[in-house]
Amino acid sequence: MNPSQAPLTLQEIDDFLVGLDKRKCPWCDGHHWGLHIDAAADAPTPQQPGLRSLPRIRLAHSDSGTLSGTIAMGTEGSLMVIVAECQACGYIYLFNYFAIMKKVRAMAAGKTDGNDSPN
Ligand SMILES: [Zn+2]
Repeated sequence: MNPSQAPLTLQEIDDFLVGLDKRKCPWCDGHHWGLHIDAAADAPTPQQPGLRSLPRIRLAHSDSGTLSGTIAMGTEGSLMVIVAECQACGYIYLFNYFAIMKKVRAMAAGKTDGNDSPN
C-alpha cells in the first residue's frame, strides 16, 4: 500500500495536533483535550481516530415560497472530521480529516527528502 494513501493513525493525528499551538478551551479555559477514538470491538489496528462526518445539506426555495432541504446520508459529499473534546466540560472542536492528512503527508515527505527509505 502506498503510505500516502493509508489512513492516518491515531498517533499521527495526535502528534500533529499536539505540535500545533494548543489552545485553552474557549468555554471553561481547560487545557486537557481528548481525541475521540474508534474503540469498537471491530476497530481496525493500529488504532484509528473515531472519525465522524457532517452530512452535506442542499437547500432549495420552492415556487410556493417554502424552503426545503435534502441531506446526503452517505459518505459522498460529507465532511469527515476528527473530534477533540475538552476533558473538563465537553466542549468539542472539529478538525477536517483530509486537511490534516494533507499536512501530515507533506511533513512526512519533507522529512524523507533525499532518503528513499521504503518506510
Ligand atoms: Zn472546557
